[in-house]
Amino acid sequence: MDYFLEIFGTLRRAGPGSSECTQRAYAMMTELPTAPHILDIGCGPGVQTVDLLRLSGGTVVALDFLPEMIERTKTLAIEAGVDSRLTVLDKDMNLIDFPPGTFDVVWSEAAIYNMGFENGLRKIFNIVRPGGYVAVSEVVWLKNNPPAPLREYWQQYPEIDTVANKLTVIERLGYQPVGSFLLPVSAWTENYYTPMEQRIAEKSLEWKGIPEAMAVLDEATQEIAIFRQYSDYFGYAFFVMRAPERK
Ligand code: SAM
Repeated sequence: MDYFLEIFGTLRRAGPGSSECTQRAYAMMTELPTAPHILDIGCGPGVQTVDLLRLSGGTVVALDFLPEMIERTKTLAIEAGVDSRLTVLDKDMNLIDFPPGTFDVVWSEAAIYNMGFENGLRKIFNIVRPGGYVAVSEVVWLKNNPPAPLREYWQQYPEIDTVANKLTVIERLGYQPVGSFLLPVSAWTENYYTPMEQRIAEKSLEWKGIPEAMAVLDEATQEIAIFRQYSDYFGYAFFVMRAPERK
């Protein structure tokens, strides 16, 4: 059994986020064509994929390297009646090779860190059309001088930084920042940590005595505990940016 997927792969969302935040970021892209062509990188269970299909009236290519996530995204789109405008792609995001300027919008919620923020945005720059938009959510420091245990925890992702420093990266790569906002705490809890806690409670008894399973539960429990203790110090931010008309 894949214990990791039994926990992280069964939640409504696979990271912090909410439909309200997706809608807010989408609304910042004020000069889109009708029926835009959108790439959703690291689609996970597909909640934001379906939101994008509904909001845009356009076409979405949803990419993830886990077949289970691709299946969930397809199912959700069928249930919402928007699957005719969806294409799914079972692919490693690091191997993205679309022709230059393919997409009007490139989207990635809680997933660009798998390429690295800067490396990912650099790759995306090539495949979004001139004048097109990019929207990504990413973990950020909310305060300077985070406590040592928190800094140590986030050594797993050294690119965690302040919103200001992320905006510097965005501009250095040649994008025009359009806007950014912090996700509310409810975007971490409602669709992600609260159901994760329920799932951990269910599985703790069932998996008792299986070290591999307990390691997954411990990791998930630690992630939630870190958030509960230190959410004043770190959070998630949405960044919306635009590729220049002439790159
Ligand atoms: N966007 C979704 C959401 O907000 O619910 C999923 C976020 S989840 C934290 C990150 C997703 O990225 C997972 O579905 C995972 O399978 C996918 N992923 C991780 N590394 C990847 C890679 N190298 N290529 C493609 N997908 C990847």
